[in-house]
Amino acid sequence: MTTPHPALAATDPELAALVGAEERLQAETLRLIPSENYVSQAVLEASGTVLQNKYSEGYPGRRYYEGQQNIDRIETLAVERAKALFGVDHANVQPYSGSPANLAVYLAFARPGDTVMGMALPMGGHLTHGWGVSATGTWFHGVQYGVREDTGLIDFDQVRELALKERPKLIFCGGTALPRTIDFASFGEIAREAGAVLVADVAHIAGLIVGGAHPSPVPHVDVVSTTTHKTLRGPRGAMLMSREEHAKALDKAVFPGLQGGPHNQTTAAVAVALHEAAQPSFRDYAHAVVANAKALADALLARGFDLVSGGTDNHLILMDLTPKEVPGKIAAKALDRAGIVVNYNTVPYDPRKPFDPSGVRIGTPSLTSRGLGTEHMAQVAAWIDRGVTAAGAGDEDALLTIRAEVAELMAAFPAPGLPV
Ligand SMILES: *Cc1c(COP(=O)(O)O)cnc(C)c1O
Repeated sequence: MTTPHPALAATDPELAALVGAEERLQAETLRLIPSENYVSQAVLEASGTVLQNKYSEGYPGRRYYEGQQNIDRIETLAVERAKALFGVDHANVQPYSGSPANLAVYLAFARPGDTVMGMALPMGGHLTHGWGVSATGTWFHGVQYGVREDTGLIDFDQVRELALKERPKLIFCGGTALPRTIDFASFGEIAREAGAVLVADVAHIAGLIVGGAHPSPVPHVDVVSTTTHKTLRGPRGAMLMSREEHAKALDKAVFPGLQGGPHNQTTAAVAVALHEAAQPSFRDYAHAVVANAKALADALLARGFDLVSGGTDNHLILMDLTPKEVPGKIAAKALDRAGIVVNYNTVPYDPRKPFDPSGVRIGTPSLTSRGLGTEHMAQVAAWIDRGVTAAGAGDEDALLTIRAEVAELMAAFPAPGLPV
């Protein structure tokens, strides 16, 4: 077999072998982690260019280093594409990833000790929304809302009550384990009543938003924060977007507030991903992600699985395995051995501990990128069912049988950059 990375293989065979092993793993397994995806060959190529070699602290036309003739145009292209695609006045494409992007929002609008509000991590929020173990929860006073125990939906009575009582500087909406449409308009009303800056962290659903498969937060919020590598299907990175009035504060917070030189190879790959996301085929992709998730949820419900909120509106499904009497972590590790890659996750009001919770989180962005459709979701649900049952019974042979079946199906659905 010829190696796809000849220079790497010659210089560092040990590392090249590890990359090759990862390529095979990504090719052969059914990847269901909802925050992951497969980038296109064009995005892969852009992120592996000599743009890597260039320092460019500052912003286009206002740099602290010379030689920016091309870099300025590349970053401007990414910014203009982001503005057009999301329908915003301003975009900053320099944040290294989602967590630093959110930290820049704190730097722009709050001071240490200020009250900030977000969804509790075990309810489906993100660490950077003011959760205790994060810098955002130690340097700021985080107050946290959740979902209702009976419906699994965001409790807007609680959000309003907390916001009016605590008067946070910042309110974050969005999360990492929310299977339902986010009602940005209701958050917007509450934030205005409370006098808070409202941030929509759409890291998980950015691709669905630009593809028309989830409502946009833009008319209702002050700031949009997003990663670029989840449903948006770009390189690992992030963007902050806003109306013109917040542009200066956000830019200053990202640089020089928090970061030094931007990762230009990532900026270029972000520009490519935004170009791809502006094509009609990306709308089809976003809608197919949701159709697949709904079909998978229906198939799991038919097999007696308990899904938080009863199903999904987006790309993500949160399974509560309590009725199956298999802890989330044991199920996740067994499914991994069966070639089905998921993550164990807390469910709202989880009686178990975060490192050993009751749930498993799955999603359809990756399998949809490989071309699987609704017709495959009954099979995926059957594998998950057999895998969870085998996990409970300690049946390793059953897991290996599933692994072989998964690899056989996935071989028919190649992904960019991976061996066929
Ligand atoms: C993934 C995610 C982040 C963090 O992104 P990283 O790139 O992992 O730092 C922040 N917020 C939400 C809602 C996310 O889903």
